Formats: sequence, C-alpha cells, structure tokens
Amino acid sequence: MVIKLKSAQTAFWALLLALCVVAAVFLSTSKEEGTETNSQTGAPMLIIDAGHGGTDGGAVSVTGVPESEINLSIAIKLRALAQLLGLPCIMTRETEEIDYPEDANSLHEKKVYDTVRRVELAESEPGCVLISIHQNKFPASSPRGPQAFFGKDGNSEVLALLAQEKLTAALWPENRRVAAPIPKKVYLFSHISCTSLLAECGYLSNPTEARLLETDGHQIKAALALASAYIEFISAENKV
Ligand SMILES: [Zn+2]
Repeated sequence: MVIKLKSAQTAFWALLLALCVVAAVFLSTSKEEGTETNSQTGAPMLIIDAGHGGTDGGAVSVTGVPESEINLSIAIKLRALAQLLGLPCIMTRETEEIDYPEDANSLHEKKVYDTVRRVELAESEPGCVLISIHQNKFPASSPRGPQAFFGKDGNSEVLALLAQEKLTAALWPENRRVAAPIPKKVYLFSHISCTSLLAECGYLSNPTEARLLETDGHQIKAALALASAYIEFISAENKV
C-alpha cells in the first residue's frame, strides 16, 4: 500500500514537472501581440466550467454523491494546476451554491439564468478556451470510461482528441471511447463561439468508476490530463 502510494506520488510529481517544463517553454516563446491572447503570457483565457451546481446537481453516483460536487472538485484542481503554471483562468462557479435572482423561482428559470450567465461569461472573453467538466450516467452499470466531446468552433475537435487521449491514459487505459461532437441541443455549447471541450470523466452508474471519481487521487489524474491536453493544444496553436 505504502509502495503503491509512493509510486502514485512519484508519477504525479513527474507528470507535474513535465507539465511545468512544457508550460515554461510555451510561455517563454509565445508571442505577445494579438488581441485573442492574454497580453502577459500569450495564452488564451481558460474558462473552467464545473458542470451543474446550485439547484441542479446533475447525475447522482451509485453511492449518492451528486455529479455537481465531483465536477467542482476536479475543476478546482484544474484551476490550481493552471495557476501553478501561470496560465490565465477563471471558473464559471467556485462553490456548490449559485446566487439566483429573486425572479428565478422554478427549477427551469434557475437553470436558464445559470446557463445564460455562463454563455455571457464565455462570450465576454474573446478567444478563450472553455473546458466543461461533467460525469456520465447510464441505466446499466457496465459502461465505463472517460469521453471528450467537442464544440462547434473549428479548433474544438483538436482539443477533444488530445483530451480523449490523455484522459484515457490517465484514468482507464482499456477505454475504447472516441471523441465526438457535442449534440446541438446542449444550450451552452450551441451559444458560445470559443473553442470548447466537454469532458465526461467517467460513469457515475459504474460502481467501480463512481468510487474512483469520488477520490482526490482520481480527480487529480483527471485534472492533470485536462491540463496536459490544454497545454499541448495552446502550444500547437501558437506553433511553439
Ligand atoms: Zn453533467
């Protein structure tokens, strides 16, 4: 157990060090001109979207944990990594609570308010990249594995392919899922113009995966995979 923990920690720090090196190379060589990037680092604004929240808990795991909590935990870890690497980022929510206006009474009105608020945030950051974190659910308990979905912006598929590769390697190497487009009916993604990724990190209906997704260790792996995909994506975009 101790040996396992040590090797997991070693792998974590090795991956983090590799991320720091890639980020350092990117940040030191990126161009400062252009309106679509952060003027200090050259990196675009990363919007980290923890799916659901407030009165909308999303799916519920087989152990009773709401998806919104797991999404937020991974999002906070991704923000910590981005901040450590000096990459500009903001979150669409930082807590489980959402401040709804007084005239939003029904669940539907609250959901509409929250979704429009997230669209407006993304649209206020030209050239941003939005990574939305979710967990999947299926009536049967056997489906398992992360899957990356891409938005309508032309670069989104590139980011999703990277995310699919990194999430699979980090979370469940036997995974055979492939990146796919986000269905047009998903309001947030059909109303934003920036590069966007929806990462379903795993299935809350699969008992083994649900328990893993509730652990800090698995959440750190998911956050590292997303950070790694993001850095590789923005590096390629700037031809570093
Ligand atoms: Zn969700």
